[in-house]
Amino acid sequence: MTAEEKTILARFLDLTGDYLKYGHALHREEHAFKDDETTEPSDLPLAYMVEEPEDSPEYPDTVQSEDSLEAIVADVTACGACGLAATRTLPVPGEGSIHPLVMVIGEGPGADEDSTGRPFVGKAGQLLDKMLQSIGLERNKNCYIANIVKCRPPGNRDPEFDEIASCFPFLKRQIALLRPEIILCAGRVAAQSLLKTGKGINALRGEFFEFSIGEAVIPVLCTYHPSAILRDESLKRPAWEDLKLLKSQLASRLE
Ligand code: URA
Repeated sequence: MTAEEKTILARFLDLTGDYLKYGHALHREEHAFKDDETTEPSDLPLAYMVEEPEDSPEYPDTVQSEDSLEAIVADVTACGACGLAATRTLPVPGEGSIHPLVMVIGEGPGADEDSTGRPFVGKAGQLLDKMLQSIGLERNKNCYIANIVKCRPPGNRDPEFDEIASCFPFLKRQIALLRPEIILCAGRVAAQSLLKTGKGINALRGEFFEFSIGEAVIPVLCTYHPSAILRDESLKRPAWEDLKLLKSQLASRLE
């Protein structure tokens, strides 16, 4: 809260108290409030920084010649590295074009995705499709859609640090294989996990970052998660600005 907001609130409380008690307002000294420390509400301590062991075969930095999307799906399906495997219905490895212009990375499957095994098929997914269509993209034609964690966190809670860490190698294999022109992170969890930062989505959206894998340096844009946009209409406008940015960056990469 700012000092000004606190002053207004305190005046209001003083006034109502005075009127209730004395029937009129008393003369009072001005309060001396200070602004709260400004942190974005969505800022987290570096909980989403996934530390990767150097030179680990689990974290390939180049595409493994024998790797394939089918192999990744099989490995995700067989995975029991974290507790999510025990509570999910179906794993949701991802889907889309093998040569995507844009790879969208969400947070993790929700109920609809858990029951179908497909990413972003619920209400948020419908909005995501519309967002992509608005800049001439289509999920199965020129996009690949994946998530930070491939199994549904119970009750749609945020994935935990160890769950993200154990699922991250799958995402890296997908990125190494697909080599999208651009990565679009949908929401805070995807943005923080991929970019290894504790900054909130408000600070991360609207500009390009880079994700390096092998020789490739892939531009990364972060925007609001479609579920957040569904909850808060005011996010539509900045999300649209992000999409326009994505479109122009894509156009310049394809020139
Ligand atoms: N939200 C996500 O982050 N991913 C999905 O696949 C669906 C909803």
